[in-house]
Order: sequence, then structure tokens, then C-alpha cells
Amino acid sequence: MFETVAPGVGRLGILFVNVFALGEPGGPWLLIDAGLPGSAGFIRRAVAGRFGPEARPQGIFLTHGHFDHVGAARELAEGWDVPLFAHPLEAPYLTGRSDYPPRDPTMGGAMAEMSRLMPDHGYDFGDRVKELPEEGIVPGVPGWRWLHTPGHTPGHVSLYRESDGVLLAGDAYATMNLDSWSAYFTRKRELSRPSPPFTFDWGTARRSIEKLADLEPRTVAAGHGRTMSGDHVASKLRDFTQSFTPPHRGRYVSSPPVADEDGIEELPPPVPDPYARRAAGAFVVVLLLLALARRRR
Ligand SMILES: [Zn+2]
Ligand SMILES: [Zn+2]
Repeated sequence: MFETVAPGVGRLGILFVNVFALGEPGGPWLLIDAGLPGSAGFIRRAVAGRFGPEARPQGIFLTHGHFDHVGAARELAEGWDVPLFAHPLEAPYLTGRSDYPPRDPTMGGAMAEMSRLMPDHGYDFGDRVKELPEEGIVPGVPGWRWLHTPGHTPGHVSLYRESDGVLLAGDAYATMNLDSWSAYFTRKRELSRPSPPFTFDWGTARRSIEKLADLEPRTVAAGHGRTMSGDHVASKLRDFTQSFTPPHRGRYVSSPPVADEDGIEELPPPVPDPYARRAAGAFVVVLLLLALARRRR
């Protein structure tokens, strides 16, 4: 079920990631992002509950193309016969022209460890992908505009509704601490840096967060975490921007990859992975426990 974030804005949580729906039942609406692989049925049921069983969006608007934001994109877009809107600088990773930079788990932390099992390749959605209209126009839902907020990925975009200060930040930042294991259970609201193993340019990511803080939003929602709302949000975002720090180590922290409209051009060399052995050990323990549980059954 979509949870109401603000009038005409619904949030649907799928394990650790969110999709959003913009628009009112009976009118034009837009799906923002497409969740994890295998979540098409779940999203369709939630959409039917909010907009009616025959509802079909104007399109699916992708904040960026990571696997947890486009997992059901193909199935939903083909089923509804609608376009996938994305920024031109994100298009190479959505049309089979480039992979993302390889994930970098070398900074450690919960998401970094989990990322070892997560895909980091690009996708090919062919001509379903349509470039976003210029001038920040969001197709089908008046009152919203999109902003280019690169850094997490080259063509990352956020959405903003000026009239009531609602900001959908995608993965420009998160509203939960992705580095903390306990945050995945408590869902504690906390402005936090974007997913470290998948963020390719930290300096650019910081400038994007500053740009979003300048909007002085009253409600902030992101791809990961619960919504934060109230008069205190703008100053919290300002404080977060001022105290923003990249991970203390990592392949892309001091030298980001070079990317252009054709995708990744140049990668910095790999760096030592101090957590690799521990991660491999943990993986073996999990496999042993699973094997034991099977024998007991
Ligand atoms: Zn992402
Ligand atoms: Zn994400």
C-alpha cells in the first residue's frame, strides 16, 4: 500500500528501497522509480489500490538506473506500454551502451558488505527510454520540476514541488544510515550520505546536496528511508550539507571515474579491499548454517 507523503504523493517501501507515485486517482499520474527485481506484481497491486485496477501512468520516471530503482522497469513499462523517462547522462546505462563503474565496497559498512552480492551492471531497455523534457518539466504532473543532481550517478535527478516544498531526492542522499546494520531494522530517520559502494563522484554528490538544501524543502523523501516532514527539515538538511563527509577511504573518493554522454570513459585503478577476507568468511559461515538447517529438516 502506498503511504501518503503529501497531497498527491505516495510512497511504497519495497524491503530497503522506495518507489513513489505522483498524481491523484482519476487524473494523470507518474511512477517514480521501479523498485527491486521481482517487485512488479507488488507494485501493480499497490497501484491498483491507489489509482484503480485499470490505472496506467504517463510513464515511469527514473531518478537513476541502479538495480534497486529499475528492477521492475521493463515488466511494468511493457505491461502498461509507457516510456521510461531518464536524464540523457543516465541513458548510456539504460540503453546497453555502458556499465556503471564497478561497485566499491572497500570503505566497509552495511551497504558496502551487502553490495558484494548486488548487481552493478547497466541495462538495455532499448527505445522504451525517453530523454527527460528540458527546462525541468515533469511529464504529466504539473507543479513538479526535475533537477539534475549528479554525483551518485552521472544522470541522477531529483524532483521538487515548489508549492508545498516536497522534495523527492532519489539517491542524492538517504533518510536512513545505509552504513549501519541496525538502521535496516529500526528505519530510524536520519539524513545520510548516498549509498557509498555505488556513489561514483563524492565532490559532485556534495554539490548536488547543497543545491537541494538551497530549495529549503519542508518534506524530504528519498530512495532509501522514511519521509521527514516539518518546519525543521530545511535546517536539518542545511546542517547535514555542512557536515557532509565522504567515506574515509574508497576507490572513487579522491579520483572519480570520467563519464560522458556515452557512459564511463575512464576508471581509477582498484584499491586494496581490507574487508574482503572477512566478507568471504561471513559468506562461508552463512553457507554452512544454511547447509546445517537443511540437514535438520
Ligand atoms: Zn543508487
Ligand atoms: Zn538506491
